[in-house]
Amino acid sequence: MIHMKDVYKKYPNGIVAANGINVEIKQGEFVYVVGPSGAGKSTFIKMMYREERPTSGDILVNGINLAKLRPKRVPYLRRQIGVVFQDFKLLPRLNVYENVAFALEVIEESPKVIRKRVMEVLDLVGLKHKARMFPTELSGGEQQRVSIARSIVNIPKVMIADEPTGNLDPETSWDIMNLFEEINRRGTTVVMATHNKEIVNTIRHRVIAVEGGLIVRDEHGGDYGYES
Ligand code: ADP
Ligand code: ADP
Repeated sequence: MIHMKDVYKKYPNGIVAANGINVEIKQGEFVYVVGPSGAGKSTFIKMMYREERPTSGDILVNGINLAKLRPKRVPYLRRQIGVVFQDFKLLPRLNVYENVAFALEVIEESPKVIRKRVMEVLDLVGLKHKARMFPTELSGGEQQRVSIARSIVNIPKVMIADEPTGNLDPETSWDIMNLFEEINRRGTTVVMATHNKEIVNTIRHRVIAVEGGLIVRDEHGGDYGYES
């Protein structure tokens, strides 16, 4: 599903954020990526959806080699990967329905299919009744639900989340985690960078710890392993 081979990433400023990463993530896995700030977690996951390119090494996602992927093919890759961010990144001028429908409109799905699919995912995230509201009218937790709905509307095989609960209070964070659990139960691979010790130590999954651009620990059902 996701395979990194000898991945090395040096930013133009000389910082090495990935220093020889080798990892394999199988279809259907749920993986937490943990580590201190500046460890290289974001770089690690950004390379999985081609937001960053490795300086050397190979990255295969769904059989597509991202290191060799032509820029023209990046949108095609992105349709197979759902991405969720800490700060939601919703389009402020579009309502909830439109934010979610957007991903299907760009691939020119029929209006009938779009309507059905958007309402299905809004139902899944519990926001069908708020379809006409705008992002600023929603709580943080609701905005994150919309961004999760948007990320799964294309039925991606993999979902990548960078600190999805980072801006949410503890209770809302658990609700959002339950959604990720449900999406994973339905077969989607989930890769999630997080600083949430409570969650990692309670909802047990594979834990990959990154430090200094290297994987320093990789344990199924492992714990968070840091103080906070
Ligand atoms: P984390 O997500 O674990 O906090 P990052 O992957 O964001 O770590 O960063 C790893 C290192 O790479 C840090 O030293 C950071 O300052 C540096 N870095 C991240 N993004 C860039 C960038 N676009 N340009 C230069 N350096 C960067
Ligand atoms: P750029 O060419 O500047 O990298 P992109 O088109 O890749 O711009 O991304 C535009 C914005 O959408 C960025 O904020 C990026 O992080 C975000 N983004 C990229 N890929 C996805 C995705 N698959 N799902 C959701 N948001 C994405």
